[in-house]
Formats: sequence, structure tokens, C-alpha cells
Amino acid sequence: MTATGPTRSAPHRVALGTWPSPLEPAPRLAVALGLGKEDLWFKRDDLVGLGGGGNKTRKLEFIVAAALAAGADTLVTVGAPQSNHARLTAAAGARFGLDVVLVFPGHPGGTRSGNITLDALFGARVHWAGKVAREQLDEIARDIANQLRKDGAHPAVIPLGGSSPVGAQGYVRAGEELSSQLPGAHTSVVALGSGGTMAGLVAALGSEHVLGIDTGAIAEPANVVSSLATDTSGRTITAEGLYIRTDQVGEGYAHLTEATADAIELTARTEGVVLDPTYTGRAMAGLIAAVRDGMILRGQTTVFWHTGGLPGLFGHPQALQRFESTLRQYP
Ligand SMILES: *Cc1c(COP(=O)(O)O)cnc(C)c1O
Repeated sequence: MTATGPTRSAPHRVALGTWPSPLEPAPRLAVALGLGKEDLWFKRDDLVGLGGGGNKTRKLEFIVAAALAAGADTLVTVGAPQSNHARLTAAAGARFGLDVVLVFPGHPGGTRSGNITLDALFGARVHWAGKVAREQLDEIARDIANQLRKDGAHPAVIPLGGSSPVGAQGYVRAGEELSSQLPGAHTSVVALGSGGTMAGLVAALGSEHVLGIDTGAIAEPANVVSSLATDTSGRTITAEGLYIRTDQVGEGYAHLTEATADAIELTARTEGVVLDPTYTGRAMAGLIAAVRDGMILRGQTTVFWHTGGLPGLFGHPQALQRFESTLRQYP
């Protein structure tokens, strides 16, 4: 047989999480937002087992499988110092006995809490890249991989947030999982960071059923999601057909906005569920705005994807100060 170009054989995955992730009703929050009691559900991808939980687990099941198939013994990835993706890459490395090198901007000693603590616990090594732009991190990661190769290692480089067509397969599978748990769900609401999560959900569920809330992590989120969704699904998925709200970015990525702080507080006080200041809190603020302006309607089933990020709350001084200041006293 001769090769005739790329084939879409069944992608391989390793098991890193416990599936399906729970799907829970959120009736008190639904009513607080003016929705019907049974209109709002949480898809708990924060509760999937590996290393503190979160959406990167599903992506890493496919990414680590590809890396192992290619003979890798080391994972190299990039991100912000509070990256949940970096933390879960470190945990996945520990699970499979792989070395992990994380490439972060900044200098040692800047941050010690939240995800950094967990990176240390999982035994990852950090390369502090100094004062560099996000776009330079990929190049630095490639240089590090070359050096590791010279030293006899077999590194696999994972892009920001694990958002490659391989990683996005994890969220195609997640969309299918939701369809079997809750057939007929109208809208999935999800935080949009590096784009792979939304892209996979769009590939599985269709553009009209996914609302992405941009977190300000990347430039041109619509183009990134459309190209990832197209590569992942093998169909053309246009940027114009996507539903993306960009009104929750505020002063920028990882900055706690008032709307996000309110959304985190409301979710905690109605459902006992904790959201984070960078991703899920913003996504909930976007969901609330979408209810307010009629994009999400009473009587339709809305699924909020809880993509994790709890350690990030404990690594976010602004959020800690804000919430600690609301501690009520008795009497
Ligand atoms: C990375 C991340 C997201 C965004 O997912 P992307 O695939 O990068 O868009 C959402 N929530 C949390 C908690 C994350 O860590």
C-alpha cells in the first residue's frame, strides 16, 4: 500500500482521569439568575482525578499517548507561572514516570503559592525565561528541547494550554460524553483560554451550541478556535459562525474583574461550588451577562463547563484579598 496523505485513524489515548465527569444540576443558581430550576447544569471537569483536576486532563490523555508512541521520556511545555496546564502536565509526567520541564516567564521566587507549589510537589523542573513576551516562550521551549536531545533525552514539546488538534480531541470526546448524559442540551458555556477546549466542543456539538467566554489569554481567539476546530473535525468551521463573548476580559488575562468576583461569590453562596478568578469565574460572569441580554433563555438547557482552576485561586493575591475581606463576623 502507498500512503495517500493524512489519514484520520482513531486517536490513541491514555487514561489520566475518571470518566464520565459528573453532571450536576445547579437549581439555586439557576433561580437566582431568573432561569428555570432545571435549566442550568454543571459539567464537573474539575472533579476528574488527576493532580487537582481540570480541563487539561482530557487534552493530556491524547497528548501523552502521542508522546509515548513517539518514544518521549520528557515533556516540555510553556505557560504563565499559575498555569493549570503546566501543573497537570507535571502531574501526568509523574503518573507515567516522565521528566517534565515547564517554561515560564519571570524569575524564581516571584510566586510561591497555588499551582507553583503543586509543580514542585510533582517534581517538575522550571526554566525561568526572564522578561519575555508570551510568543517567545515557544521558541525558548524548542531551544530547551534541542538541548535535552543533545543530552540524550527524548523530549516532546506541548504547546500553550495543550491546544493542538491532538489535545482538542479530548474535548471532542467530552462533547460526546455530555450528549449521552444530557441529550438535547442547548448551550454549553466554557472559558476560552488557548482555545482547544472550545474547539473540541464545537467539533463535537456544533458552533451554535457552544458559547465561549474569552479570558484574554491569546490574540484573535475566534481565528484560533476556528482553525483548531477545523483541523480537529476535518470540516470547515468558520470564525464568523462561532459564539464568543469578549466582554469579560476587563483589564486583561488573570486580572480579577468586579463581574467575575460577583459571579464567584454568587456561585459559592448558591451551590457551594468554587470557581477561579482567571477562567471559570469569568466564564460564569459571561453566562450571567448572556442571560441578562437574552442570549441564554429560560426554558433552554444550559451547561456550564467547570474546567477547574481552584489552585489558581490560592495563587491570586488580588482574589484572596477581595474574598477574605468579605468574611462575615458573628455576632
Ligand atoms: C486552560 C483553562 C481553560 C481554557 O481552556 P483552553 O483550552 O486553554 O481554552 C479554562 N479553564 C481552566 C481552569 C483552565 O485551566
